[in-house]
Amino acid sequence: MIRVLIVTGLLAGNCAYVHAAEPSSEKYVRVAISSDIPELNFSIRGKYKILDLRSGAVLEEGRGLRESRLSTHLGGIKINDAEYPLRKIRVTSTKDITLYPGDKAQRYRGALDIIQKSNKKFLVVNTVELEQYIRGVLYHEVSHRWPMEAMKAQAVAARTYALYQMKKNKNDEYDVTGDIYSQVYGGKSAERFRTNIAVKRTLGEILVYDHKVLPAYFHASCGGHTESARNIWGENLPPLAGVPCSFCALAPHASWKRNFRSQDIRDKLNANGYALGPIQDIRVVSRNQSGRINNLLFTARDGKTTIIPGIKFRAIIGPNIIKSNKYEIIMKGYYFDLIGKGWGHGAGMCQWGAHQMAEERHKYDEILTLYYPGAKIVNYREQPPVDLP
Ligand SMILES: [Zn+2]
Repeated sequence: MIRVLIVTGLLAGNCAYVHAAEPSSEKYVRVAISSDIPELNFSIRGKYKILDLRSGAVLEEGRGLRESRLSTHLGGIKINDAEYPLRKIRVTSTKDITLYPGDKAQRYRGALDIIQKSNKKFLVVNTVELEQYIRGVLYHEVSHRWPMEAMKAQAVAARTYALYQMKKNKNDEYDVTGDIYSQVYGGKSAERFRTNIAVKRTLGEILVYDHKVLPAYFHASCGGHTESARNIWGENLPPLAGVPCSFCALAPHASWKRNFRSQDIRDKLNANGYALGPIQDIRVVSRNQSGRINNLLFTARDGKTTIIPGIKFRAIIGPNIIKSNKYEIIMKGYYFDLIGKGWGHGAGMCQWGAHQMAEERHKYDEILTLYYPGAKIVNYREQPPVDLP
């Protein structure tokens, strides 16, 4: 292993892009893949460079780096035995970089930006070309065995959502996180043959409304009617106003049932700021046009009542425990049942509905038109959308 240490800042001011030779239509997304970690094991395949992220100065370069360790020293970042008096460095490779968080090995394309925070712990951000990012996301969103048109619809929705996040968070240290709060991202390790085809066949395609990038939300299954984004996030956009969906009736999670002990629910509500006594009764006060719950009325045994928004109640109990905000309540003494429909927040594309549409030979643009009515498919490489909604 030969390593060359270059002392001066040869590439100062030229670090904005990972590969300077890429065409200008390429977009890079910054994915936070680890945060608050004290150290990290990694290896690099191909030619690599370690750069000062601020100036672009090359600190070290070589070919292949095995069993390496990122850690901290008094004045900054340490990689193996080399100490850099810096808080922000970038590692690039012509092939890929493998991280070993715990027992796992995860391969990434593009560059890794390593940012040391004031508590000495690291934020690791993968700066990767948008199309490659979508390749690393798709497998986690839908099975690579799904019909191609459903995967293509998902690729467009995921790309659009990523671009929306990139515009929204452009002044932050990263655009998206690699977990469920943005889109689950597995890097190069998550790429599959068929999902890569879906990304390639929709290369650059995104959804816009009124020339602006649509926040193209999606969810597993809507239970018969998608939700208005206005009811969840206050976003008043016609393509996200909610539509009837007849395609997910036989999907997994189309209906679900869950039993709860009233006392457990009261404990959780108490812990989250609702000071209510032992629960006597729970009723739905009102529903919106998609059938989801606006407000719940809790009556305690002492007769006092408390109103809790359905969305809030689901968030407190857990979105994977109460799978959707669309359910009936059946009181059973000290227990109660929820009998519900669908899984997820319900806004935007219903993934299982898209799956069924593709099974019934609908094309991906028809799927997107159903779930995002009024939105247009454009190619961001040819006509970049101007702004956020
Ligand atoms: Zn549906």
